[in-house]
Amino acid sequence: MSVAGEFAALYGARPEGVWAAPGRVNLIGEYTDFNDGFVMPLALPHTAVAAVSRRTDGVLRVHSADVDGGVVQLDVDSLEPRSGTGWAAYPAGVVWALREAGHPVTGADVHLASTVPTGAGLSSSAALEVVTALALDDLFGLGLSRPEIAVLAQRAENAFVGVPCGVMDQMASACAAEGHALFLDTRDLSYRQVPFDLAARGLRLLVVDTRVKHALGDGAYAERRAGCEAGARALGVRTLREVDAARLSDALARLSDETVRRYVRHVVSDNHRVERTIALLDAGEVRAVGPVLTEGHVSLRDDLRVSSPELDLAVEAANAAGALGARMTGGGFGGSAIVLVEEAAAEAVSAAVGKAFAEAGFTVPGVFAAIPAAGARRL
Ligand code: ADP
Ligand code: MG
Repeated sequence: MSVAGEFAALYGARPEGVWAAPGRVNLIGEYTDFNDGFVMPLALPHTAVAAVSRRTDGVLRVHSADVDGGVVQLDVDSLEPRSGTGWAAYPAGVVWALREAGHPVTGADVHLASTVPTGAGLSSSAALEVVTALALDDLFGLGLSRPEIAVLAQRAENAFVGVPCGVMDQMASACAAEGHALFLDTRDLSYRQVPFDLAARGLRLLVVDTRVKHALGDGAYAERRAGCEAGARALGVRTLREVDAARLSDALARLSDETVRRYVRHVVSDNHRVERTIALLDAGEVRAVGPVLTEGHVSLRDDLRVSSPELDLAVEAANAAGALGARMTGGGFGGSAIVLVEEAAAEAVSAAVGKAFAEAGFTVPGVFAAIPAAGARRL
């Protein structure tokens, strides 16, 4: 049944509309978005779809086709941050954030269904938030821009759900364009669509989902974040964005804490890797992006220390089998890796990763090709 049909079966009337918002993979620029830095995600064909109708009585009903437990009914006036409504906190948090910002959202019936794998580092949470925000923006005529939608969605996740994520995921889901990667400056949310037509160049970007669930809510992310803030303070800058890559060794020499030094080295060098990637893509040298990805992985593994044995093995096995480059993507500690590979070698590389996982006794990974897809839209 269609998502609209499921909505009708659930709530007794057709929805006023149906919207979709994608998950994403990040090509390069990891743990840079809370340092005012650069990122370069692309949207996936996998989407969260929402069928939604307005209500005027202050009632919010949310339902997900992908979760047991039926309809969750809430009262928009008494939405409380971190009140633990499970998965429903994502759409409810969006309603809360919209109302906090003064938008007259008077209730809604929402039915969601998503093809974005959850907890795989592919931003199923942002897809859920952005699709809800876009639907409410349309239905209530709020006139929000895409970056405004992304920021409200991020606020829902930070303040209402209680996950301290940056803004990359929501910006990717809200603003991406088909066939392009999104070069985003998280300092001012300015962005540029960078052509990233892999098929035309005989290339593929594989996503290897290790099926190890990351848990972004846990302490490691907050610890990295605090370490980066400590680094910025010690260097007398507002954020690590202000540290020039050409002056990195000077900056490192001024840091006494070994952990902070590693974190700073990662963030500053990864910011620079985004700039290098942009320059390569603009010059049409897509294959040369491969080694930059692998360099980024080494930095995430050794300096930031957010990788996992599965992610390291995916990268190692892919590169050993002839990939152009590979790295973990997203928050790490599980989730997914990306692999840039010649189309002709994609099958062999994918098989090699599967074989390495089997030999290591790891769960069989899910492998698919990331085709740069469109951002959020009304269907
Ligand atoms: P990621 O965003 O990397 O997939 P998160 O931990 O940030 O991982 O978000 C995953 C959470 O988002 C799930 O645990 C669930 O609460 C919520 N979620 C994602 N997709 C759905 C869905 N289709 N239905 C209900 N909840 C969902
Ligand atoms: Mg998420």
